[in-house]
Amino acid sequence: MHESRSMNRKADTATVSVGLGARAYDILIGPGLIVRAGAEIAARLPGTRAAVITDDNVASAHLPVLQESLGAVGIDSVTVQVRPGERSKSFETLQEAVDAILAARLERRDTIIALGGGVVGDLAGFVASIVRRGMNFVQVPTSLLAQVDSSVGGKTGINTAHGKNLVGAFHQPRLVLADTAALDTLPEREFRAGYAEVVKYGLINQPDFFAWLEQNWREVFSGGSARIEAIARSCRAKAETVERDERETGERALLNLGHTFGHALEAATGYDGARLVHGEGVAIGMALAHRFSARMNLASPDDAARVESHLRAVGLPTSPKDIAGDLPGADALLSYIAQDKKVSRGALTFILTRGIGQAFIAKDVPASEVHAFLKEFERP
Ligand code: NAD
Ligand code: ZN
Repeated sequence: MHESRSMNRKADTATVSVGLGARAYDILIGPGLIVRAGAEIAARLPGTRAAVITDDNVASAHLPVLQESLGAVGIDSVTVQVRPGERSKSFETLQEAVDAILAARLERRDTIIALGGGVVGDLAGFVASIVRRGMNFVQVPTSLLAQVDSSVGGKTGINTAHGKNLVGAFHQPRLVLADTAALDTLPEREFRAGYAEVVKYGLINQPDFFAWLEQNWREVFSGGSARIEAIARSCRAKAETVERDERETGERALLNLGHTFGHALEAATGYDGARLVHGEGVAIGMALAHRFSARMNLASPDDAARVESHLRAVGLPTSPKDIAGDLPGADALLSYIAQDKKVSRGALTFILTRGIGQAFIAKDVPASEVHAFLKEFERP
């Protein structure tokens, strides 16, 4: 049996191993991992010093516990605290973090620890990839989205005026510590948004996982073993995809299910998190991808209805009409999609589906069909 397919349980901690040869690493999932972080890091990276990169929200809830845990095993650390939010994935913040780490005289064998959501993880990972041509990197993801998605797979980076995530590097962590109890301080809306990415793994290629979520989502939201199980299954799904296609030359693109429509809606709302956060865009995008697939006679409309009904049950939006305020029409949405994607001779690449758990990469989707579909959601 392949490494990553095993999911060992030590008491209430699940371990998912990411099998990338010499760069293989473990993802530990369970409550109390921030308390244990120092010991887990010291066991794998003896003698290391550390820089913790975090944001103000996460620092007030979890930084003291992490610092104490590092101190208890003699790991000397400095902290770089950034402002919460997407704007911290910038050249300015990158420079501040790099300067602080160099000022603290950290060396290549030392460790950058990301304590936070996907913003902190992407920024800190990129810092780790460039300072002294590559330092050790440990992820301590604290949002559900970061625990099931952004902390796994080694993509790091920042945003530029030309778009999101356009500057970055592939840099795998040495260890991921997903403390499921840390999610208790996460705002409910952020938890729900991250849950959209959990559903995504079921919809891509695990119909049994989707069915399990339909039955068990309340327990996933309330915490306990179902939450650990959902996160571990998600990490395993992403790890398996990354093992087969680390640099996204093929099937890693399936992880973008719902993201083409979702990114267009995020752009159309000016990345205003008060109106739409990423996971909500993904939820709408997945609902649309299933409806569009049904419209193209690729999948049954019953599957699209089932997806929508689950997303609605947990309180996620499923239609552009669920977004408050004005939205641009089909023309503008299509042009956002075209910016996000390569368009060749009027055809778009989309992740479509033949049914729940049967997503595939469709390379020749007519832009005219997408346009007609989006027209249906225009408000009078
Ligand atoms: P985020 O990091 O902005 O976190 C969301 C909010 O929750 C922030 O305000 C943060 O301060 C707060 N927060 C996080 N953990 C908390 C906790 N435990 N308690 C209280 N507050 C907490 O956003 P996100 O949704 O975690 O990540 C989104 C980012 O991830 C985007 O920049 C996206 O591009 C990136 N991403 C990267 C990958 C990848 O493969 N590298 C994959 C998906 C997304
Ligand atoms: Zn996403």
